[in-house]
Amino acid sequence: MSGDIIDGKAFAERLRQRVAEAVPQFVETEARAPGLAVVIVGEDPASHVYVRSKGKATVAAGMASFEHRLPDTTSQEELIALVEQLNLDDAVDGILVQLPLPAGIDDKAVIEAIDPAKDVDGFHVANAGRLAVGEEGLVPCTPLGCLMLLKDRLGDLSGLEAVVVGRSNIVGKPMAQLLLQQNCTVTIAHSRTRDLPGVVRRADIVVAAVGRPEMIRGDWLKPGATVIDVGINRIAGEGDRTRLVGDVDFESARQVAGGITPVPGGVGPMTIAVLLRNTLVAACARAGIAPPA
Ligand code: NDP
Repeated sequence: MSGDIIDGKAFAERLRQRVAEAVPQFVETEARAPGLAVVIVGEDPASHVYVRSKGKATVAAGMASFEHRLPDTTSQEELIALVEQLNLDDAVDGILVQLPLPAGIDDKAVIEAIDPAKDVDGFHVANAGRLAVGEEGLVPCTPLGCLMLLKDRLGDLSGLEAVVVGRSNIVGKPMAQLLLQQNCTVTIAHSRTRDLPGVVRRADIVVAAVGRPEMIRGDWLKPGATVIDVGINRIAGEGDRTRLVGDVDFESARQVAGGITPVPGGVGPMTIAVLLRNTLVAACARAGIAPPA
């Protein structure tokens, strides 16, 4: 038996299309496009690649992209001053500060400076709190994308056993909150969890957000489980090459799982698609109009 591959790339493409189709109506009523400002500090090459692709995707969806590239000599005060300026800018509906920030800048202080109504990454403590108490807010893109894939595949998640491996504020914790809202029975596992394979084996749904290459193996899984692999790890490949792998050992897991996301082509493409969706949702909320379904 071999589980199905959950095609995040194709789902993300459809989501981007839906966002792009909804933008003209916003433009018609508001006489401007929804705008996303992305701020990057320093020269981290991977971050520059992410920012470029976010900018391109924003423009492709018919929205306005504002990129702010700052040198790594930028001080925390200067960065926060820029965020405050963007908070007041009516053309900007979403603000994303690309992480990680250079040493010496406190990520938390910068994120807390973002207007929660423009916090399209959903990292502000006000949005994290809203998610925890079940109020409307902006939800972090990666876990929301994982939930969309799960609902698309499984429909009603009510009563399912879900194990989230990883408890970061940007993936693991919001993922657990979203699954709880869907009436899953949720376990959050982490580096101190005892008998991790035994915990994972209980799960109908496994979300792996650990950052350890191919850690979760097929023999840890309950047969038929749905596996969402958030991990992006670069490891040595053939010769001088490197390759990307997830936190799940894809080959062995696929023999046991009912469905599994590949890396690349699973959760990764969902993150940018949900960012566009969040930008449109933030723009509609600021304009006082209903967001698209
Ligand atoms: P963090 O490093 O912030 O968190 C990792 C979590 O995994 C921690 O809670 C940690 O536990 C737990 N952990 C570490 N080692 C083990 C272990 N041996 N057994 C059980 N749990 C363990 O990572 P992120 O949440 O930011 O990211 C996780 C992965 O997802 C990374 O590979 C990252 O690149 C990827 N990612 C992918 C995105 C995408 O768009 N697809 C977006 C964001 C992240 P503890 O808290 O106890 O230390």
